[in-house]
Amino acid sequence: MVCASGIHRDPLKSRSLSTSPVHVLRPLVLALAAATLAACASTSPHSTAPATPAASTILISIDGFRANALQRGHTPNLDSLARHGVRAEYMRPSYPSLTFPNHYTLVTGLRPDHHGIVHNTMDDPQLGHFNMDDDVATATAAWWGSEPIWSTVEKSGQRAATMFWPGSAAPIGGVRPTEWRPFDDKFPGASRVDAVLGWLDRPEGVRPKLITLYFEDVDHEEHDHGPGSAEDLAAETRVDGYIGRLRAGLASRGLADRVNIVVVSDHGMAPVAEGHTVTIEDMASPDIAANITTGQSVGFRPLPGHEAEATAKLVGRHDHYECWTKETLPARWQYGTSPRVPPIVCQMDEGWDAVARAKLATRSKGPRGSHGFDPALPSMRALFVADGPSFRDGVVLPPIDNVDVYPMLARVLGVTPMPNDGNPEALAGALRPTP
Ligand code: AMP
Ligand code: ZN
Ligand code: ZN
Repeated sequence: MVCASGIHRDPLKSRSLSTSPVHVLRPLVLALAAATLAACASTSPHSTAPATPAASTILISIDGFRANALQRGHTPNLDSLARHGVRAEYMRPSYPSLTFPNHYTLVTGLRPDHHGIVHNTMDDPQLGHFNMDDDVATATAAWWGSEPIWSTVEKSGQRAATMFWPGSAAPIGGVRPTEWRPFDDKFPGASRVDAVLGWLDRPEGVRPKLITLYFEDVDHEEHDHGPGSAEDLAAETRVDGYIGRLRAGLASRGLADRVNIVVVSDHGMAPVAEGHTVTIEDMASPDIAANITTGQSVGFRPLPGHEAEATAKLVGRHDHYECWTKETLPARWQYGTSPRVPPIVCQMDEGWDAVARAKLATRSKGPRGSHGFDPALPSMRALFVADGPSFRDGVVLPPIDNVDVYPMLARVLGVTPMPNDGNPEALAGALRPTP
């Protein structure tokens, strides 16, 4: 039986009763609902009983997994976790809805403007240039603000292990996870899972309390073929299979009820039709403004002496995009105070990419996908699913913000959270009480 405490399971809205007068049936339905809840409480060990301490918590990111790709019949393992544990209706990414900013938000609870990873590509007045493909920059701690949850776990005397996560290669706060490795997209998904299971085989005390696990397959296929394409669905099923492999490995070790699994994504994905591109050089000539970032959240720095001209050319509404000075960006994005945010930021409309002229020629034909659009758009909605000894059963949470994941993780791991932008109450209803 699935025991629902979620907001979508109103028994009065059950289809089989919809043709009967509600005033006649209401007492009967309420009695039935009460009996069901009582049965749930007695048959479900996770619902209301205090949490047993988890042996470990595994935070899994499926890059680009859309909130609405769940429960469509091709992801049986994720669907099972969502059914038996907790799922949020959807999770709102932070601005900009890109990979590095949002992964670091998930492990710090800070908006990108506050943790400093304001884009996948950025400049810093002291540190120079950052690009997510640059191994030296990504391993330099000074880029990464605050302290990720794995550093806090290590400092508390427990161990953390990362099977990839943006930031995990840098000694942030003076420490790295006990286990970590440079990002390698050639390292097969099944081998990532087997390495995680190997870490869990370690004896209590040296077994990591926190493990991260990352899969890029879905993001890649969505970019190349579009969200919802056959290639995307196949990638979603493939990654779901990795999670199945993990669950089977936990079960064979007698750890199925002792390990928390938290599955998130960093953002969703929107379709981009062929030809839906704006050329960077047409937005502002390189003679008046340096282009800092391309894609969907597009930054410019006016050249000295050309400030007024560049601002006049860029700021305001245009076909397929809008630009602001960093001081006047929409408040709901909570973006623009970091010195790393360029002086002028242009936001592309959903389904439009800004591409440098030199790159246009090599761009593949056909439909494709992009993210980096306004985090409030339904297409950008991310995934949140969790199951394990710390979580209640059958809970459907209303939409959450991705800054809220961090305070929940800190609570589950028993560490004091760093100052953050999250609301600890947002996920409190998903957790079983601690004894
Ligand atoms: P994007 O779609 O441009 O926001 O970036 C997503 C891509 O970043 C993924 O598909 C990965 O190939 C890459 N990526 C993910 N994690 C890392 C990492 N820790 N270091 C370097 N690249 C990464
Ligand atoms: Zn991503
Ligand atoms: Zn991507």
